[in-house]
Amino acid sequence: MEINRKTPLSEILKLGKTCSACGHCCRHGSGALARGDLKKIADKLGMTEKEVKERYLENSRKFHTVLLKPKLIKEEGRPYGRCVFLGPENKCSIHDVKPLQCAIGNCTEHGEELNLWFTLNHYLNENDPESVRQYAIYLKCGGKTLPGAELSKLIKDKEKLRKILEYEIMR
Ligand code: SF4
Ligand code: SF4
Repeated sequence: MEINRKTPLSEILKLGKTCSACGHCCRHGSGALARGDLKKIADKLGMTEKEVKERYLENSRKFHTVLLKPKLIKEEGRPYGRCVFLGPENKCSIHDVKPLQCAIGNCTEHGEELNLWFTLNHYLNENDPESVRQYAIYLKCGGKTLPGAELSKLIKDKEKLRKILEYEIMR
């Protein structure tokens, strides 16, 4: 199956189901939340959204967009660490309400494309010129993408795209 930027979430979630929940990736990072995830996590934990944010989450920035993701417990001197929600037996303690990026990302043959799908749908914002510019630089540096996320498809108006890329449209 070809994954493109417009592949429906329902199809993406089916591919994410091949995760066997071994917890390996959760020992080295965590996945970002999408809209609605924070409320679900707060409800499960019996906390307010503010409390969950302060205690368990941190900002994750990409393409001029800030999302939330679970904090990492890092050993001294290491840039990575285990997710704060990873339980003692390497099981996710919020499995049924885990962040969307965790629910769709996995280590199978589609893993890289699934993560790209999340990035292109939740960090990249074609309505934010700065997001488009940062994405253009990413592409210029050889960054991977999916069909349907070419600059010419994101911003179909060629003149508008030129103005965005040449900083004639700032916001
Ligand atoms: S929230 Fe759960 S699935 Fe996501 S990284 Fe943390 S432990 Fe893993
Ligand atoms: S995505 Fe892969 S490494 Fe991560 S928990 Fe699932 S099976 Fe394990």
